[in-house]
Amino acid sequence: MQERFWQAIVANDAAYDGTFYYAVATTGIFCRPSCKSRLPKREHVRIFHHREAAIAESYRPCKRCRPDGIRLPDEAWVAEMKAHIEERFAEPLSLATLSEHFYASTYHLQRTFKRIAGVTPLMYIQEIRLAAAKKLLITTDMPVQVIGSQVGMSNAAHFATLFQKKTGLTPTEFRQQPVH
Ligand SMILES: [Zn+2]
Repeated sequence: MQERFWQAIVANDAAYDGTFYYAVATTGIFCRPSCKSRLPKREHVRIFHHREAAIAESYRPCKRCRPDGIRLPDEAWVAEMKAHIEERFAEPLSLATLSEHFYASTYHLQRTFKRIAGVTPLMYIQEIRLAAAKKLLITTDMPVQVIGSQVGMSNAAHFATLFQKKTGLTPTEFRQQPVH
């Protein structure tokens, strides 16, 4: 690989967009030079001058920089992330898993999410989990600990502490309230 290509990738240099694409052997994804995805290892990078050539070798276009067409606006990107969180809140989600799924650095992902959603991704995950926990507390007889793990917080003590901090009540007190 020519040094100037590598430097363009390192610098997310938009001036090179359209002149080449780079594919990453380990992820099977290809990107524009300006993509804010995590910097791959140099030895895993392959340069393509035409996106068709990358596609022909079974590389998939990055969902972030959309080398196959129009770049997704940040609003739509954050909406996809929110939908992902709402669907998978019960799974072990973290900034790292999100950044893996959405092909972006944790820094860029967090910054964009916060700017558009008004809260960090982790705060949003918490909100969704607590809302789901409240619903289960009211509508089921499941033990508190089980509810915690059902909503992605398998550490019972952590779940109870967070719940109380956000609602002012322990999960049990919340459940016993006559009116919600
Ligand atoms: Zn990309």
